[in-house]
Amino acid sequence: MKILETFFPVFACLVCRTEINAGQDETPYLCGACDDVLMVHTRVCDKCGRSVGLHAFVCDRCNGKKNKRGVAKDKSKHDWYFTRARSAFSYDGAVVDLILRLKYGAEGDVARFVAPHLASVVRTHKMAADLIVPVPLAPKRARERGYNQAAVLAAELAKLLGTEVLSGILTRTRETAAQKKMTLLERQENLRNAFTVTTPARLAIKGKRILLVDDVITTGATADECARTLKKAGAKSVEVLTVASVASMC
Ligand SMILES: [Zn+2]
Ligand SMILES: [Zn+2]
Repeated sequence: MKILETFFPVFACLVCRTEINAGQDETPYLCGACDDVLMVHTRVCDKCGRSVGLHAFVCDRCNGKKNKRGVAKDKSKHDWYFTRARSAFSYDGAVVDLILRLKYGAEGDVARFVAPHLASVVRTHKMAADLIVPVPLAPKRARERGYNQAAVLAAELAKLLGTEVLSGILTRTRETAAQKKMTLLERQENLRNAFTVTTPARLAIKGKRILLVDDVITTGATADECARTLKKAGAKSVEVLTVASVASMC
């Protein structure tokens, strides 16, 4: 049995933990059933990357659609600091479990599995990436977890793209309140000036097109505050790439 396993290693699916048998040179990460239910975005908002209806090019929030009286339907309409946001998957089904595993163990395996999907998004959308920068964790979270999942993702992606990754340059200056139940506006307020670019890094990012990497984009507030901070520190542009995005944003 031992010898057989050497030639035909048994892997466990990253999502449901079912055993997967694979050939000698294969490293399968998901079983067929979980792989089948990975939700890929079909039509997305050109700006924020969230799912939109069949005929929409940008979502209501990004184009600030007005109602009959000329009042913006969504008062939180926002001109993002990032150029575009894109993600590999919709935050749904098996992807939710994948993200959990990324945050709470198995981060290396998940990152190796999703990195080719992220690289493919970069190539498909011709995203600008002179440098890759991960979204930093809050200091308390970083201490509890011992690693930053965005940095793990960024490192795997950087290998595939042959791009430099600068992990420690963007840091959190303070703890922020939990954002789960907050609206975009509340989150923006909560995050204002929560990030900073380290002084030596200012030279490294000056005039550079930055690819900001994170696991999930929810309202876009965190990514946008990071983008604002990076641009203020001299970056030429910031594009946002995440493993998943929460589909309904308006
Ligand atoms: Zn599975
Ligand atoms: Zn949008």
